[in-house]
Amino acid sequence: MIILEDVSKSYSKGAPALSKVSLHIEKGEFVFIVGDSGSGKSTLIKLLLRELYPTDGRIIVNNTDVTKLKHSRIPKYRRGIGTVFQDFRLLKDRNVYENVAFAQRVISVPSSKIRKNVPSVLSMVGLAEKYKSRPKELSGGEQQRVALARAIVNNPPILLADEPTGNLDPKNSWEIMRLLEQINYNGTTVLVVTHSREIVNTMKKRVITMKKGVIVSDQKKGGYIDEY
Ligand code: ADP
Ligand code: MG
Repeated sequence: MIILEDVSKSYSKGAPALSKVSLHIEKGEFVFIVGDSGSGKSTLIKLLLRELYPTDGRIIVNNTDVTKLKHSRIPKYRRGIGTVFQDFRLLKDRNVYENVAFAQRVISVPSSKIRKNVPSVLSMVGLAEKYKSRPKELSGGEQQRVALARAIVNNPPILLADEPTGNLDPKNSWEIMRLLEQINYNGTTVLVVTHSREIVNTMKKRVITMKKGVIVSDQKKGGYIDEY
């Protein structure tokens, strides 16, 4: 589902952010990406979203060669990938329902379907009752659950989460992780960048550890490694 072959990415100055990274992620996997700040995790996520273009190497996502993708095809390509970020990125002047519905409107889902899908994902993330609230009326954990609902309402085959619990306390972090696990259980391939040692060690998923732009460890049912 996700293949990287010798992918390198250099920004204009300094050492490369990624150096010859190769990686295979199968359909339906749940993968943690860990590593020190600056090790290249977000660069990897941005390359998968085609927000960045690799300096070298090949990236295949969902049978699409991302490196050969024409500009006009990028929006359609991105529809296959749900995203969640540390800072939630909700529309501040819209309520919860509208934030989620918006993702469906931009791909022209019929209103009758939107009226079914939005309440259904909101109840999955436990926010059915809060559909009229604005983001500022919600806790951080609730805002991130709205972002998660928005990320999955179009049923993308892949979900990328870059430090989704970075702004949350442990209880809310666990709620988000359990939801990500449930989304994965329903068939979505899930990649999660995190610094949470406790979560990584408890969940026993595949763990890819990065350091200075290279993968230094890739373990099935792994844990958070300190020695790197
Ligand atoms: P992580 O997400 O693991 O903290 P990043 O992928 O954000 O790491 O960054 C990897 C390296 O690339 C760091 O050294 C960072 O300073 C550098 N970097 C990231 N974004 C840019 C950019 N837009 N311009 C220049 N350097 C960047
Ligand atoms: Mg980052």
